[in-house]
Amino acid sequence: MPEKSLYEMAVEQFNRAASLMDLESDLAEVLRRPKRVLIVEFPVRMDDGHVEVFTGYRVQHNVARGPAKGGIRYHPDVTLDEVKALAFWMTWKTAVMNLPFGGGKGGVRVDPKKLSRNELERLSRRFFSEIQVIIGPYNDIPAPDVNTNADVMAWYMDTYSMNVGHTVLGIVTGKPVELGGSKGREEATGRGVKVCAGLAMDVLGIDPKKATVAVQGFGNVGQFAALLISQELGSKVVAVSDSRGGIYNPEGFDVEELIRYKKEHGTVVTYPKGERITNEELLELDVDVLVPAALEGAIHAGNAERIKAKAVVEGANGPTTPEADEILSRRGILVVPDILANAGGVTVSYFEWVQDLQSFFWDLDQVRNALEKMMKGAFNDVMKVKEKYNVDMRTAAYILAIDRVAYATKKRGIYP
Ligand code: NAD
Repeated sequence: MPEKSLYEMAVEQFNRAASLMDLESDLAEVLRRPKRVLIVEFPVRMDDGHVEVFTGYRVQHNVARGPAKGGIRYHPDVTLDEVKALAFWMTWKTAVMNLPFGGGKGGVRVDPKKLSRNELERLSRRFFSEIQVIIGPYNDIPAPDVNTNADVMAWYMDTYSMNVGHTVLGIVTGKPVELGGSKGREEATGRGVKVCAGLAMDVLGIDPKKATVAVQGFGNVGQFAALLISQELGSKVVAVSDSRGGIYNPEGFDVEELIRYKKEHGTVVTYPKGERITNEELLELDVDVLVPAALEGAIHAGNAERIKAKAVVEGANGPTTPEADEILSRRGILVVPDILANAGGVTVSYFEWVQDLQSFFWDLDQVRNALEKMMKGAFNDVMKVKEKYNVDMRTAAYILAIDRVAYATKKRGIYP
């Protein structure tokens, strides 16, 4: 678990970079604070007729470079602090990628596994109507996050469209491909992680074909990252895990088979061609690359000294605490930070929004090529800042991003 609140941890990362770059203190304060925080309490009629009241949030952290962009998560532990931290990270993520967006995030405190499909639909439609006062295709464009998916995005899009009286595809991204979604969105975050893993190996002089990789978390990000790292980089994925534990095979897994197994059995731990390990053991394996792709705070002060990977490529948001960051940096482990490594998803969300606004749709190769080119460009931009300031990659990514948002804020001026 993180030693600090998530928002405190995020601000600490920001402060570390800001202190190196002569940022005026009043401008730093503008950039740290969320622009808008909306809390909604809304009723939903359950299947048995009784009414329950749920709490939801939408935070727009910064919109200096364009509309707010970021997902909505459904989870019983969602807090305003968490949503603020995630919105904050989105601002820097879109800026690192040089997308014309700001940062936002939303969440509803609910355990969606306890709802029927009809209840989930009513909750989604009511929540989206409640936050409609601040969202729109030119103000704030939500997307899926933990426990929300293309079906939920279709309900959101329909709800907004019904309320305004015409179809607005560009109101959310991550929609079904048949309904204004983009080809290649599902694999996008994993593809971005793959690009970063390959470039990190280049930096360290590791031959990807001889490299070993461990992936913590085998959901959307972890599965595509593992698949593409094994198929396109030729590395051996020797360990993967989910919330029930992990499996290890020094010969490397057939990731496609493993994904099929996970779909059928709901977990990887019973997969017969590997030895069972715990999530803690997976993180500490002697591998070339570690991809944390599960939850926040996986690498912390308590285990950072025991991480043996040469590179950590952050698929998840916030998997490394600031204390662990210092330890990894001191030990010479290259950490490719979340705001760069997992930015493939928001980048293809940007492509989806562009396609929706133009009503002109791209083929899969076009999406993949544009994504890979932008990920490589951003990785190289961050490396240049890293060399200039002689800092770790996270600090470099923040410096690059803060510089872009600070420039936009100054150029626009303080209204009125
Ligand atoms: P997901 O729900 O599809 O998958 C999460 C996986 O992590 C599941 O396999 C789950 O079993 C596993 N898990 C949960 N607790 C675990 C634990 N304690 N140890 C090991 N595994 C555990 O979610 P996702 O979309 O793959 O997102 C994963 C992370 O990546 C989150 O931090 C999310 O915010 C971040 N992220 C996702 C995207 C995206 O496009 N999906 C984009 C950027 C960042």
